[in-house]
Amino acid sequence: MSLTTLHDRGVIARWRAHLPVSEKTPVISLNEGSTPLIHTPRLSAIVGRGCEVFVKYEGLNPTGSFKDRGMTMAISKACEQGAKAVICASTGNTSAAAAAYAARAGIACIVLLPAGKIALGKLAQAFMYGSKVVAIEGNFDDALRLVREIGETEPIAIVNSINPFRLEGQKTAAFEIIETLGDAPDVHIMPVGNAGNISAYWMGYREFHAIGRATRLPKMIGYQAAGSAPIYHNRIVEKPETVATAIRIGNPASWEKATAAMRDSGGAVDIVTDEQILSAQAWLASHEGIFVEPASAASIAGLMKCCGQDRCTTCPLPAIPEGSRIVCTVTGHGLKDPDVASKQIGNITTAKADKRAILDLLAT
Ligand SMILES: *Cc1c(COP(=O)(O)O)cnc(C)c1O
Repeated sequence: MSLTTLHDRGVIARWRAHLPVSEKTPVISLNEGSTPLIHTPRLSAIVGRGCEVFVKYEGLNPTGSFKDRGMTMAISKACEQGAKAVICASTGNTSAAAAAYAARAGIACIVLLPAGKIALGKLAQAFMYGSKVVAIEGNFDDALRLVREIGETEPIAIVNSINPFRLEGQKTAAFEIIETLGDAPDVHIMPVGNAGNISAYWMGYREFHAIGRATRLPKMIGYQAAGSAPIYHNRIVEKPETVATAIRIGNPASWEKATAAMRDSGGAVDIVTDEQILSAQAWLASHEGIFVEPASAASIAGLMKCCGQDRCTTCPLPAIPEGSRIVCTVTGHGLKDPDVASKQIGNITTAKADKRAILDLLAT
């Protein structure tokens, strides 16, 4: 075993030829990417008509979300350019990833978070990875505005998705899907918050299509939470609200790119309610064994709402043809948000430490 081959599965090592890196780029990696594409028979049955549904489980990245794909690129490039500190605004997962990769690189990390609106697991990560955490009295959009202002005058690299290297890293998820399926899927469904990820996937799909590694392009379908749906309503939402904190964003940074992705691919944008999100989250865990955070469940809620046998009548989405292959990205791990998950915990039945007592209980 050599120490270099130990790290030859990270996003940069695997997809170097398709990324803006050179031999001079120090590779800061935690072996992110190569997440499983899981075939989901019960979700496929909901869609019916011979369609197959696959879930790209991005919660299995090193810090528990897809943000690691972009962060290995952003931090590696920041180090190449000599940065000693990075900063980001975050709804939680960007800060977890930035903090981890900065720690790995040995540089400082500053994160601006909307006070009181960060899932507990993500907050714990930012602290554990040793970043400097500042909770601001405002929402994510305010935090991002401040990060832009600070980046203009201070020698600190911005690692939000306005940093183009983030999307470059994130596009590798589309490469992996094409590699696993042997071609691009017909439909790709994902949650949309700041709208960088859907833009990145579309870039990845188009790049592999252009060099002949895929014969088709998927329809890109984005879901926003009903209370935070600026793209769907085509206007800035001043006070976005949703239980899905990772997509609680009223003025997405990649608005134009995401709109182009959905339009040019023949896809659409739609909304799901918090109730639909939470019910899809619980359903996916208990029927497919995949536990994701609320924002991630927006794609599953969307699939159930618009692609099922009893699809909603107001559905803006194109009808899904028979036999389609559908990929849903689930963006983050369920343990990120223990507060939301613990609301699902019912009354715990206690029993004597006795076999008979337990079997009696189970029989009732
Ligand atoms: C960041 C994030 C999103 C939203 O991705 P965008 O690129 O901001 O649209 C969705 N789900 C999770 C878990 C995230 O961390």
